[in-house]
Amino acid sequence: MNSISRPVETEIIERLRSRCMGARSDVLVGIGDDGAVTRVPDHHELVTVTDALVEGTHFLKGASPRSIGHRSLAVNLSDIAAMGAKPLWANLTLCIPEYDPSWLDEFSQGFSELAQEQGVALIGGDTVRGPLSVSVTLQGVVPKGKAILRSGASSGDLIFVSGHPGEAAGGRLIDAGDLSAELPDAKKLVARFEFPVARVSLGLALQGLVSAMIDVSDGLHTDLSRLLVASGQGANAELGRALLSQELCAAAGIENACELCLTGGEDYELCFTGSAKHADQIVALAAQVGVSITCIGEVVTGSKLQWNRNGAHYVPGSGAFEHF
Ligand code: ADP
Ligand code: MG
Repeated sequence: MNSISRPVETEIIERLRSRCMGARSDVLVGIGDDGAVTRVPDHHELVTVTDALVEGTHFLKGASPRSIGHRSLAVNLSDIAAMGAKPLWANLTLCIPEYDPSWLDEFSQGFSELAQEQGVALIGGDTVRGPLSVSVTLQGVVPKGKAILRSGASSGDLIFVSGHPGEAAGGRLIDAGDLSAELPDAKKLVARFEFPVARVSLGLALQGLVSAMIDVSDGLHTDLSRLLVASGQGANAELGRALLSQELCAAAGIENACELCLTGGEDYELCFTGSAKHADQIVALAAQVGVSITCIGEVVTGSKLQWNRNGAHYVPGSGAFEHF
């Protein structure tokens, strides 16, 4: 049972449709029928991901609707990127406590700006009343057999990370009032949290070159551990200068920057492994798509992820950011 009245629901859907539907020729039937019909290109496979954002868990009460719209798509783009896939079609389930046209317009703006930039069409969804939450299912395609999994890393592979994990967590602390908003780079850090950039073009560029990949949503330590467990391997990794965000070091101090880098979460960077013989090509492709990457270490046999910093072992704190 959906307790939003039918005329209001129709108006909400029409607002979303007019702003976000996009124009892809592979969408044969979009919003308006009982289901969407899309055409999967020949010799490709479908990749489907879903992520939900819930008020109080993934964003604060009163968070900017534009940011919520952007993030609801960005977190899913990041999962698609981590599979090495090309994003195409989105479904949006919106659970809202009441109908607020200006909230919906700003939400749609955040969602549609990113959808257009990435060539993603909104093809359906559902609209219900309840505590604010936004769930997006995103579908993309990958050439047959080319999806990049977590499980492909071998001992001896190098480990790379895009960007500087920890910045988004710094921004979240600033938004929550736990870190000063007066710091010189506060705006940049807040933007990294409110408007994360999924590394879609990097994921696509790495197709066929890397052995395993995961996106960094729950902190680099947790997510690299997941990749290693899936691959049945361990790793030695370096928490070095190049990995750390200089802005975050300046804002929060280097010790906090180290912790936020490994356990902060919400970065939506990519962490991947590849054979050393592909390293030059990987670095060149990342430069071509304009994303900085850092080689942080090496996959080893075993099951332990060992961090090193300044020549000593580093144990990530217990402050890992959990959604539950
Ligand atoms: P039904 O009762 O058959 O589920 P709805 O009235 O819920 O139909 O939906 C009508 C159309 O609007 C469908 O194509 C559905 O996918 C689309 N739709 C509903 N809510 C949303 C939404 N939040 N975002 C995008 N499309 C939506
Ligand atoms: Mg419905």
